[in-house]
Amino acid sequence: MELIFEKSVPGRHGTLLPRSDVPRAADLPAAFLRAEPAGLPELSELEVVRHFSNLSRRNFAVDTNFYPLGSCTMKYNAKAAEEAVRPFAGAHPLLPYLPAGESFVQGSLGVIHQLSQLLAEITGMAAFSCQPLAGAHGEMAGIMMIAAWHRSQGQQRRFVVVPDSSHGTNPATAALVGYEVLTVPTSPAGDMDLDAFRKTMNNEVAAVMMTCPNTLGLFNPQVAEICAIAHRFGALVYCDGANLNAILGKVRPGEIGFDVMHVNLHKTFGTPHGGGGPGSGPVGASEKLLPFLPSPRIAQHTDGSYHLAEPAAESIGRLANFYGNFGILVRALAYITMLGRDGLVEVSEQAVLNANYVMSRLKGWYDLPFDTSCMHECVFSAARQLKQGVHALDIAKYLIDRGFHPPTVYFPLIVKEAIMIEPTETESKETLDAFIAVMIEAAELAETNPEALFQAPRTMPVSRLDETKAAREINVCCSWAIAGQEE
Ligand SMILES: *Cc1c(COP(=O)(O)O)cnc(C)c1O
Repeated sequence: MELIFEKSVPGRHGTLLPRSDVPRAADLPAAFLRAEPAGLPELSELEVVRHFSNLSRRNFAVDTNFYPLGSCTMKYNAKAAEEAVRPFAGAHPLLPYLPAGESFVQGSLGVIHQLSQLLAEITGMAAFSCQPLAGAHGEMAGIMMIAAWHRSQGQQRRFVVVPDSSHGTNPATAALVGYEVLTVPTSPAGDMDLDAFRKTMNNEVAAVMMTCPNTLGLFNPQVAEICAIAHRFGALVYCDGANLNAILGKVRPGEIGFDVMHVNLHKTFGTPHGGGGPGSGPVGASEKLLPFLPSPRIAQHTDGSYHLAEPAAESIGRLANFYGNFGILVRALAYITMLGRDGLVEVSEQAVLNANYVMSRLKGWYDLPFDTSCMHECVFSAARQLKQGVHALDIAKYLIDRGFHPPTVYFPLIVKEAIMIEPTETESKETLDAFIAVMIEAAELAETNPEALFQAPRTMPVSRLDETKAAREINVCCSWAIAGQEE
């Protein structure tokens, strides 16, 4: 049955605007004046409310369902953190911050300053800038800082080294900043192959980018040695901190030897990843890289008031409008202060426990390419199911019918038919058990009735979409046809 997106009926309305009492706002050139009415939708208020409420019910969300999307840390977003943002919602970014005594935004600047300091404390880096608007943006900031540092040493280096398990944003970042990428393979244990790494290193390497723990959900026990080797070649080491949820209060990357890192506030610190943003990827620097951080940075006068510091000459400059994605910063500060030191440690312990629980319960049903205890996520392969023609994608689609968001599939790229499950710390044992039961059901169906998996999902308004076409040819306003859907 056809679902018509267009619901407008001429003459219908939900609001009466008061008659304008503005004599004439401005003398606009005739070319800019509208010749025809704007053609806005004409609907009653109830129709609008129903339209958007029904659209929202077609969405998967952490608030409605289990969402074990590996690498993305889709944890529950505590409503108290939302509450904390509300008072800041009306603060205009152009409000003056000087002079301190009369400032309207001392509290807002204080949020950014305190959060930066807490992130430095948690990660062992010297300082943070909260400007970057996403993880990838933080990576770009970090690699730009490394490039600027090499320039300050009178050097122009050519390469950035990444392991082949790395997130696609790592090599993309290196290329964007103008480097050539050297890829190091993964050892059978799931870590970057140390011998291959040693052979790859040379005096033209500007940076080594390591995800810690890595995207196989494993913590590399040789990571300090990797930092030391890189440093011997005059290279700096970048920590992709998107997986920080696994090591809060356990490991401080700054103490291992990392020179620069980013963290994903919209993964680890109380804002779920997804929905296209907004996000925030603060970038942190070791003592050596401090002057290269983006500017302006927020500093404190001796009387405790805040101001925008004079940029250091070496700074890579401004990366975002105003203060970055400020709402996400407030949520992160609320999240960190609500949990405190012990709470953050517990977050990681519970996240790791949940992932290991899922891993050990599903191990008999799916291939586990790196069979060792994991950190916050576990990576299976559907290679066994593929013998019956069942792909990781079919299992993912089946999970949708059974009320679960699929795990990440086909990443990391080095695992054939990868199924990457990150349960996060906020899920109960009952939820994990229900998910595990459905994963086992899918494995059994792959043996007994693979056809059932090929047809999934059957319960959704739309079934299997051409996701590439949908992303490349976005069309959000035309009528569309949906098979079998009652409106
Ligand atoms: C999510 C992620 C990124 C990128 O973060 P975005 O905010 O999506 O740009 C980088 N590396 C890893 C390992 C990630 O999981």
